[in-house]
Amino acid sequence: MRDTITFTTQIPVDEEGYIELQCQHCNSRFRMHREIWEEGTNDKLFCPSCGIPSKIQSFLTKEVVDNYQTQVSNYINNTIEQLFSGFKNTKYIKFNHKPIKNKQEHQILFIEKDVYLSRCSTCGQIVKIKEIDKIAGFYCPICGDENE
Ligand SMILES: [Zn+2]
Ligand SMILES: [Zn+2]
Repeated sequence: MRDTITFTTQIPVDEEGYIELQCQHCNSRFRMHREIWEEGTNDKLFCPSCGIPSKIQSFLTKEVVDNYQTQVSNYINNTIEQLFSGFKNTKYIKFNHKPIKNKQEHQILFIEKDVYLSRCSTCGQIVKIKEIDKIAGFYCPICGDENE
């Protein structure tokens, strides 16, 4: 498959190896260890705040998805630029082509700064959640059980 194009997006990892995730339903942010991602044993997660399960990919934060889309659209722009650079104006056909500017990728930072380690009493999974979720109770991202 030499026609495969790979885009890589950097996801920041905190000092303990956790990455920030975001629920697409309630926009709540939390952190899970990068192993969850790398091991690929879980294809879905439960949101600690609202408890709605979704595909693990849908928990990527908006910034990560934006950067990914920027990479893809820059790639397409550059491909179009290359295509146009091969055309020459003739007596009959004139190309009036304005170059498309590439977009800049944003630096991704942790948005939710105050997160606290919590352990699920059912399966022992550790997750970093907001204080409010720790106080009010949270759903375990892995087993979905409610922890109060
Ligand atoms: Zn949620
Ligand atoms: Zn659990």
